Parts: sequence; C-alpha cells; structure tokens
Amino acid sequence: NSIFAAVELAPRDPILGLNEAFNADTRETKVNLGVGVYYDDNGKIPLLAAVKAAEQARLQQQPPRGYQPIEGLGAYNTAVQNLLFGAGSELTAAGRVITAEALGGTGALKIGADFLKRLNAESKVYISDPSWENHRALFESAGFTVENYPYYDAGTRGVNFAAMKAALLSYAPGSVIVLHACCHNPTGADLSDAQWAEVVEACRERGLVPFLDMAYQGFADGIEPDAVAVRLFSASGLQFFVSSSFSKSFSLYGERVGALSIVTANKDESTRVLSQLKRVIRTNYSNPPIHGGAVVAAVLSSPELRQQWEDELAGMRDRIRAMRTGLVEAIKAEGVTQDFSFVIAQRGMFSYTGLTAAQVETLKNDFGIYAVSTGRICLAALNSKNIGYVAASIAKVL
Ligand code: PMP
Repeated sequence: NSIFAAVELAPRDPILGLNEAFNADTRETKVNLGVGVYYDDNGKIPLLAAVKAAEQARLQQQPPRGYQPIEGLGAYNTAVQNLLFGAGSELTAAGRVITAEALGGTGALKIGADFLKRLNAESKVYISDPSWENHRALFESAGFTVENYPYYDAGTRGVNFAAMKAALLSYAPGSVIVLHACCHNPTGADLSDAQWAEVVEACRERGLVPFLDMAYQGFADGIEPDAVAVRLFSASGLQFFVSSSFSKSFSLYGERVGALSIVTANKDESTRVLSQLKRVIRTNYSNPPIHGGAVVAAVLSSPELRQQWEDELAGMRDRIRAMRTGLVEAIKAEGVTQDFSFVIAQRGMFSYTGLTAAQVETLKNDFGIYAVSTGRICLAALNSKNIGYVAASIAKVL
C-alpha cells in the first residue's frame, strides 16, 4: 500500500484554474482579466529599462554566488525602508525598524505570520471582507484562526468604514489586523487618509497588532502618497508590521523580491526581534536569493536609474488609469445606462465591477473573456486593442 494512498486531491487555486482554462481556449479574441499582473499595451509583461540596465551592469561584474546574510542584502533593506518610511525617517534613524528581504510579498507575510505565532500563539487574525485569497491561507497555515472584519460595501461600492471601525474596536487586545496599505485587492476600494488616521487610533485604543500589506506601492498615486498608511502608523509611536513587494512595481514577479519590516519600540527591542526573525527565516529557507534584491538595490541607489524607474512606474500607473476611464466611456458608448463611473474612483490594478457570477460565466462562454467569479477584473490586462471588445461584451451580458 502506497504511503500516499490516503492523500486527497486539493482544490484547484481558483485564479490559476482560470489561467488554465484561458490557455486552453482557442478563440483568438480571448482576454484574460483574471490575473493579477501588469501587462503593457501589447499585452506583454514589461521588463523595465531601469531593471535591464541594472541587470546588465551586474552580469558584467560576474559576481560570485555566495550565501546572502539571513536577512538579505543590507543595501536592499535600506532601500525598502526609504520607500516605506521615507528617506530620513525618524524611526529608521532611531533604530526602531528592522527589515528582512523576503521571497516576495507572500514570503514576507509568511515569515511575519510565523514570527507572530511564536510571539502570541493565542491571538486571532482578522483580514478584510473580502481580501486577497492567500491572506487567510497564509495565516491559517501559520496556525492562526482567521476571521473577517467588515470592509467592502457592495451598495456604495466603497468601504463600510463605520462597520470596519466598530469591529476593530470590539476585538481582543493583541489581535492581528491585516490591512491593505493601498490599492485594495480585490475591490480597488481604499480608505481615505482621514479614515487611516482613525484606524491608527482604533489600533492604539484596543492594543491591536497592525500588519500592513503593501503590494502595490506606486500604483495608486505615487510612491510617497501611497505610503500614507505606513507614515501615519509611523507617526503614532505604535509597533507594527509591513510586508512589501516589488513584484508589481518593478515587474519582477518571478524573481520573488519582497521584504518584511517590523517597527519596534526602541533599538534594543529591534536587536532582539531581528534575532528571532532570523531564526524563523533560517528554518524556512535559510536566506533569500541574490539577483532580484541586488537589481532593486542597484536601481534605487542610482539617482539616474531611480528616476528612470519612477518614470516607468508612473507610465504603468497612468496606463491603468487610462484603461479605467476608457472602459467606463466605452461601456457608456455601447448604450449602457447603468453607471460604471465607480471604476474610475477605484485604485490599483483591480476593480470589483459588480458583475454577477452568472454574467462572468457568460462572458467566458460566449466571448472568451475570463474574470474572477466575484466580478473582479484586472484593469492592467486591458489594452487599446481589446478594450472595445471587452466593453461591447460587458454591455451584452448586462
Ligand atoms: N499581498 C497582496 C494584497 C497581493 O495582491 C499580492 C500579490 N498578488 C501579494 C501580497 C503577494 O505578492 P508577491 O507576488 O510579491 O508574493
């Protein structure tokens, strides 16, 4: 009898399953709006010019491939801190921030979750309703009980902030609150700066543990404005976690470049926390890979490459915005009277369109347009060639 005889087939990842169905579809007009990846106007994942330049310089040096430190490259971690907390931040100057390079944003969440479990095994973890589907799985796999806090309001297509705040104020001290720092996935509905300030106060009042997930810095309004939640928590004097990722902002998905930053009360605490976080990393994957982090550090520490990257990032942001406006206008031009202007107000890569599961199914079957059954679409998969077809097809299924 095989030792695997009792292994059950795990359910398919819904989004990866969508990709498989899309790949098998032979219709030439097919469009995949289900993914969470930025495509350029030609439908390609861009290799940024700043990245190309840094990679070429790096390959020319032919650097040896020794192990990295457990927490990764120092220059990379400093660059991450400057983006999140601001260059010249008081927190970093006071030694209150530790940062460890991680395997993408996912890897950062995982080592953060494992560390939190050792810190307080009994706390509950709360994620937004809805949230990125991996949030629940990641914290559950670290051993936590995960529940939702109220977030999206389908009626207003915005955040039900009153319900969210009331929920936060009802949780036990020490509860971990996972917050999307900007560009909420999947809804595109973000908090206002004033609401963020209230969330900070609620966390202080209840003694909650904020865990900010920043996977899309630069995709809403720009590097600095998108960091407002991190900056408000920084100014609060609280301790908190930030997971961050360069998958999207550097278009380096497969290189797995992210980081976990933890803000402590003081420098001494930072030393102790980092020592424990390093144990978590050591027993997960020992130390991170070299290439992606080295490329990001090289770009961010060269004034010319950094400028080039910011320009390219602005290009991606502006193209997504143009697709939001373009889609709304094109749907209207199809004679649809239903108001879709909320799509323009949403931020980041995604939109909760309000399309029902049945409408999403018809889009797939009749038009070869693939979206998540919740009605989530990725605006960055639209381009000048397919936007008219998508709008016309949406108009037909409404
Ligand atoms: N958090 C959120 C909210 C995300 O949307 C994603 C990526 N889709 C991640 C984390 C993980 O990013 P990475 O690909 O860098 O692991």
